[in-house]
Amino acid sequence: MMCKMRKIGISIIATAVFLFCSLTLATAAESMILEYDGGTHEYNGEVYSLVVNNQLLDPPLSPIIFNDRALVPVREIFEEVGATVNYINDTQTIEVYSDDSYVELKINDNIAYINGDKTNIPDNVVPKLISKVGGETKTMVPVRFISENIGLDVEFDSNGGAIIIDSEDYENITGSEEPVIDDEPVYEPPVVQSYLTGISYDVAGDNKVNVTVQASEEINSYSDFELKAPERIVVDLPALKLNGVPENVAINECGVSAVRLGDNDERARVVIDVTNLRNYSVTQTAPNELTIEVTTRKIPAATPAPIVTAKPTAKPSKPARPAGTKLIVLDAGHGGSDSGAVGYMGGNAVLEKTLTLQITNRVKTILENAGYTVSMTRTGDTLPSLVERPTQANEENAAVFVSIHINSAEATDANGTEVFYAESNNGDTYGTTSEKLAKNILNRMLYYMNSTNRGVKTAEHAVTKRCNMPAALAEVGFISNPEEVYNMTTDEYQQKAAQGIAEGIMITLRDIEIPN
Ligand SMILES: [Zn+2]
Repeated sequence: MMCKMRKIGISIIATAVFLFCSLTLATAAESMILEYDGGTHEYNGEVYSLVVNNQLLDPPLSPIIFNDRALVPVREIFEEVGATVNYINDTQTIEVYSDDSYVELKINDNIAYINGDKTNIPDNVVPKLISKVGGETKTMVPVRFISENIGLDVEFDSNGGAIIIDSEDYENITGSEEPVIDDEPVYEPPVVQSYLTGISYDVAGDNKVNVTVQASEEINSYSDFELKAPERIVVDLPALKLNGVPENVAINECGVSAVRLGDNDERARVVIDVTNLRNYSVTQTAPNELTIEVTTRKIPAATPAPIVTAKPTAKPSKPARPAGTKLIVLDAGHGGSDSGAVGYMGGNAVLEKTLTLQITNRVKTILENAGYTVSMTRTGDTLPSLVERPTQANEENAAVFVSIHINSAEATDANGTEVFYAESNNGDTYGTTSEKLAKNILNRMLYYMNSTNRGVKTAEHAVTKRCNMPAALAEVGFISNPEEVYNMTTDEYQQKAAQGIAEGIMITLRDIEIPN
């Protein structure tokens, strides 16, 4: 979902430089260990500060310089100047939108699209997923390339070691807008301001609390997500302001401690503080009303802590497999704080992470009933990292690895099934290739599902490329397509998809011989 944005423009203004001078910024050649492209790298380059709109930012990862070009964390920088940033996990695509232009890039890809026109990124300094060892992975993008293509200018102050971007005061400074003559009335379309006017809750069961918010006008859009540490549910209502509602409602029922409300220029935000969240759903219960149903886990009665006599020194070993057993590792995409793509059905959000786990569980059951051994990267609402998932398959000496995802597109008519493999992991491993695995899975899925054939495709997905065994990533259908999202929530269609995936795996396993 996109929201209307502020105008973005250029201004490298004197005050930015002045302010910057008054800040103590040190350029230092700092040594950092970074993880990217599947390996660790020592970084000894310059460390630049980032000054955006006269503010010194402290991004989780500072700009990284390759070939004299800086990669910066996309979200932290471009949201700060009012752009919209989307990252599509499955295709590793980054979209940065300003008011009148957009840039689309892909991780480790030199090809970019500016307003839909294909172009190459200069000096081959391509977007990368980079993390400091043990730190959060950031999506890093070439700062000048994006800035200039969405109409911003960037200043590198190499003496002070800063990258300066500014979007404020654009109209005053650049003069590129139509001049506004003070005496003449400026037409502005009437804006109907909508307010958040009501908040209430009721305890709907042992472990269920319904929180209801009301607005003065129809609610046209909202977004919701879950945050951890501390656990909370956030619902954002674009273009709403608070009006006469309390900003803090204590609840203290069933693990839901409070609801907090706030607003800024762009939206009202509802935050529900909760512990032991099991799940939640947001439903538009009336044109001007949303109900957030919060279900928590029962907290078990306190029991004495178990007495630990010895700390295990190693991970518990996996149950030994009989010689010749071909292990299948199944990977349900996303999970935990990463919902994956979000679809809507009758105003209810449908999360990719939920569908992937349901379908993956069905694949597991089919395979186990057929006598195969299956291991899962997740069995609940958890979020193993994109490194942990293939690492598990490698450590368990799996025969195949299959990741299950749901697609999403802005065009709601996009539909169909596709299966990916990574070209970098397509050797003849154990007697077959990832491409053959992908083809077998897609063929059997189409046979059962009757969906549009989008083909076998290649992509350097983080999970498949790191596997030592044949690996494929299936995109079952589009969560953004009204018909497919409905289908994918039904038992019948999920079972068809699962049967196809399972048979594709079983056909491939016939060719596989793995050393024990
Ligand atoms: Zn996905």
